[in-house]
Amino acid sequence: MTDSLVIPCPHCNGLNRIPAERLGDQPKCGRCKAEVLLSKPFELKQGDHASQIKGDLPLLVDVWAEWCGPCKSFAPVFEQAATRLAGHCRLAKLDSDANPQLSSQLAIRSIPSLILFKNGREVARQSGAMPLQQLLAWLEGHGVQG
Ligand code: ZN
Repeated sequence: MTDSLVIPCPHCNGLNRIPAERLGDQPKCGRCKAEVLLSKPFELKQGDHASQIKGDLPLLVDVWAEWCGPCKSFAPVFEQAATRLAGHCRLAKLDSDANPQLSSQLAIRSIPSLILFKNGREVARQSGAMPLQQLLAWLEGHGVQG
């Protein structure tokens, strides 16, 4: 069986089709040649959102702001989650101040907020920071496992 996944490039938004068995081989983007799968969060901006929620891997977005203390203390947890979930879930950070239009489109009412997208649609949302184990358990409850 030749199963392949469509994955948007976090650098250039180009869509890549990657055979499932190559996911662990640090696949490169066909367009910009950078690595498609990261083990750390990437930055999500207004113009990236429509492309980045597509594809066959879920996308977890951490909505944060520079002035938000709880957001800052949650940042290392989010980074650890990105390492744990590499190749299974893509993690991105959205600076709500720098991207007010997207924040309002996503109806962000408080930060930090976590939004899980699958197949281009929001499937779960959680407000407030949480410890790593709780975050992983929350994701597992929505079918995302490392
Ligand atoms: Zn690319």
